[in-house]
Amino acid sequence: MTRPGEFSPATVQLIWDRDRGCCVVCGRGLRRERRGEPFNGWSVMHREPRGAGGVKRNSDRPHLVLPSNGALGCGTGTTGCHADVEAGKYPAEDGYKVSRLGKARPADVPLRHALFGMVRLDDAGGWETAA
Ligand SMILES: [Zn+2]
Repeated sequence: MTRPGEFSPATVQLIWDRDRGCCVVCGRGLRRERRGEPFNGWSVMHREPRGAGGVKRNSDRPHLVLPSNGALGCGTGTTGCHADVEAGKYPAEDGYKVSRLGKARPADVPLRHALFGMVRLDDAGGWETAA
């Protein structure tokens, strides 16, 4: 069962395929079977955070669980690039984090992808170069 605000297995697979199994921050190749492992593992980063309150507060934010809101990161929220992103190590222009407070949705905000450069991620598991 996928919890509210979590990416479904099918969406995780779309994100994995889109990002070619690599961390979008450092480009490191990840091993599919190591999801959730803190060292040499990976996780899906939420660009716009789920926030607190679960399904009630997120009911007007269906984009939270779409591919545009997810990107592969090495490590977890407390290790690797994922932790660096959560700690605010990267500038807002890199697009790894999208504010819950702004009007822009993740699909609108360019992301600095280690493999593709500056891209916009769409909600079907694709991307296009951001001008
Ligand atoms: Zn990384």
